[in-house]
Amino acid sequence: MMQDHLVLTGIPAAPGLAHGKTLFLKQQEFDVPQFDIEDVDQEIQRMHFACEEAQVEIVGLKDSVGSRAKGDEAAIFEAHKMILEDVALIDRAEKAIHQGTNAEKAWIDAIEFFAQMMEQIPDETLSSRAVDIRDVGRRVLGHLLGVKMFGTALETPAIILGQDLAPSDTAGLDKNLVLAFCTASGGPTSHTAILAKAFGLPAVVGIGEQLLSVSDGTLVLVDGDKGEVHVDPSDEFLTAFIAREEAATVKLAVAREAAQSPAVTADGEHVEVVANVGGVVDAPLGIKNGAEGVGLFRTEFLYLDRKSMPTEDEQIEAYVSVFSNYPGMPVVVRLLDIGGDKVIPYLNLPQELNPFLGWRGIRMLDGADEIFSHQFRALLQAGAQSDVDLKIMAPMVSGLAEVRAAKALLVKAKDELAAEGKTFLTNVEFGIMVEVPSAALLADRLAKEVDFFSIGTNDLTQYTLAVDRTNSRVAHLANSLNPAVLALIKHTIDCAHAEGKWVGLCGELAGEPLATPILLGMGLDEFSMSPARVPVIKQVMRELHQDDCQRLAAKVLTLSDDAEVIQACQAFLSERGLMD
Ligand code: PEP
Ligand code: MG
Repeated sequence: MMQDHLVLTGIPAAPGLAHGKTLFLKQQEFDVPQFDIEDVDQEIQRMHFACEEAQVEIVGLKDSVGSRAKGDEAAIFEAHKMILEDVALIDRAEKAIHQGTNAEKAWIDAIEFFAQMMEQIPDETLSSRAVDIRDVGRRVLGHLLGVKMFGTALETPAIILGQDLAPSDTAGLDKNLVLAFCTASGGPTSHTAILAKAFGLPAVVGIGEQLLSVSDGTLVLVDGDKGEVHVDPSDEFLTAFIAREEAATVKLAVAREAAQSPAVTADGEHVEVVANVGGVVDAPLGIKNGAEGVGLFRTEFLYLDRKSMPTEDEQIEAYVSVFSNYPGMPVVVRLLDIGGDKVIPYLNLPQELNPFLGWRGIRMLDGADEIFSHQFRALLQAGAQSDVDLKIMAPMVSGLAEVRAAKALLVKAKDELAAEGKTFLTNVEFGIMVEVPSAALLADRLAKEVDFFSIGTNDLTQYTLAVDRTNSRVAHLANSLNPAVLALIKHTIDCAHAEGKWVGLCGELAGEPLATPILLGMGLDEFSMSPARVPVIKQVMRELHQDDCQRLAAKVLTLSDDAEVIQACQAFLSERGLMD
């Protein structure tokens, strides 16, 4: 299709297509007054009063979005509540007031101090929370100044543009009238991305300053799958895009309709499709979308956003709560995978030059094995209190010694619990993530030591291709459909099967329809993906024949690069009417 209009590209943050007129959402600006104060106590009281009023407002917002069953957005306001309760923040502002600063200036300085501290954390998820700190800051400031925060009232459907969207900016929007979100800054874990996914709207973020030059009321087409925004396209382009949009809507509706039915291939093979979940809040999403269990339960959430390690009881409670969504089903829990791009401030991990190659994942057995001991103990007890088929796996395994050390720790945890007379699961499958090339290459030996493998293609791709997964400058080089990565996947599956062990795949590749026939053809046993992808992938599987897929899998392994593989997969899916 001819393209003679402006195309802005950014990060695809939430899938889907949309077209419509733009509306730029501006943040309300406040001037922060600065004046000499006369009564310190009165000024402190003024600040506390404003915080209390903001608190009431936040609880109201949380309840209103919570009642619409949008767990993710409710969780954001819960986090805002916690920011307002932060003793260090209040202390800092109070100290400044004691030194003669007025409440408005003291408050906003303290907010800026912590927001900037957060921004410096080399972890996308945590650094992007600076937006939340500033959002809470503006809300309290509004109360101090006696100015009400306004929400933009939408009267007609619109594509919302913004520099970055904070929860207060979007909370007042009638989501039925929002068609898509596009932001100049922000990453894949920003508030905009979370919100868009929660509401099933497409989003493109991190587009850059060019987005700011798009005036209100401009017709744009948003492609949340590719991360593209087409500005003021021709009628011909618009018509073709709308046709794609309509076809995608019909396809998605059909997939969602059948989401709760099992994925059975056209030649009658049942394929296990399970979900990746990241905590108590999103745990129900897997089952709602038709997942038959959990293939990756990332446990980092338990350790983040807090000031000390979770206790054993806190862990048990959280695990039992997540497990309760999946009665009688398999749930694969991954041991804490910290380090790399994920940091936990209170663990005081040393600064490393190459954190992705450093002390992360299961490598922390060497020096901090108590973290995993506590986790094993909590999991074994939570497993006994639930009726899921619990399995545990270790992240970032690079060789045999780590597997043996982890298994020894698991045995020790069981011995301790038995000696203490606690009720716990005595039998639990133990597996590893295959996400380091050495683990894939040694899969024949590792398969003898474990019950299963789960291939982590996000990391396996970055380590195989030597591309930092968080570096947008080289992101285009990191495609999991590269034949080098596919060869390691094939080798891993073959080695496991030779030992009678099963293999799952829980990286983003599992939720990518282009990869579905290849992975089926390679004999992958379990596909684990973000909940929203489950209906779509199940639907693709229903149209496939194993022998066709096996031929495609063999063919792509002979190709030279990811572009050739993508082309082969697109042709394969198009021939079967599964792609336009
Ligand atoms: C992976 O590396 O593919 C994976 C699933 O783990 P994470 O994305 O949490 O590193
Ligand atoms: Mg990983």
